[in-house]
Amino acid sequence: MSSRKQYLKNYFIEGAKFHGNLSPGLAIGIFMVDLAEDILGSHGLVDAVVETQLCLPDAVQIMTPCSYGNGWLKVKDWGKFAITLYDKERLDGVRVYLDVEKIKNYPHLYHWYMRGKKDAETHEVVSEVMEAERAILSWEKVKVKLPPKEKGPVSICISCGETHPASNGELCPRCSGKDDYYQVINEEITKS
Ligand code: ZN
Repeated sequence: MSSRKQYLKNYFIEGAKFHGNLSPGLAIGIFMVDLAEDILGSHGLVDAVVETQLCLPDAVQIMTPCSYGNGWLKVKDWGKFAITLYDKERLDGVRVYLDVEKIKNYPHLYHWYMRGKKDAETHEVVSEVMEAERAILSWEKVKVKLPPKEKGPVSICISCGETHPASNGELCPRCSGKDDYYQVINEEITKS
């Protein structure tokens, strides 16, 4: 086992517990966070952005103080295998991504990532990730452009009567039709 993998061993164990299993994406994510932290050096206050909702958020959450719930981890739904760790005051950081040119040397991983093969054997993909370590990653220095976090005033939705950020207007995101994910099926019971 390489010294890097030895150093990361507990994260693989802890990550598998937290995530349910050691998926290829989680294993890659652990190497990504490790690389980003190495490049950044010692920073007190680091925030993170991940560019996919799958696997990578968990790697960040087990390895850094950034969590989805504390707001230091932002999750983009871009479906891209990349993470950025950055100094939250200076906004400079490093973006690490899975480099498709580099994964061509790892056939199982390549097919898994490109979804060419539905029956890709997870343990074979994970073995290739563990063999590759950082060899499949590339990185770039970045300046983060996220707007500062603000907690604005709330207002009461004129349709459902629940509160929501006033910046949405009179209607909450659901009532305005902007976003919707549920249908109420027992309204009489909850209102009685
Ligand atoms: Zn509403």
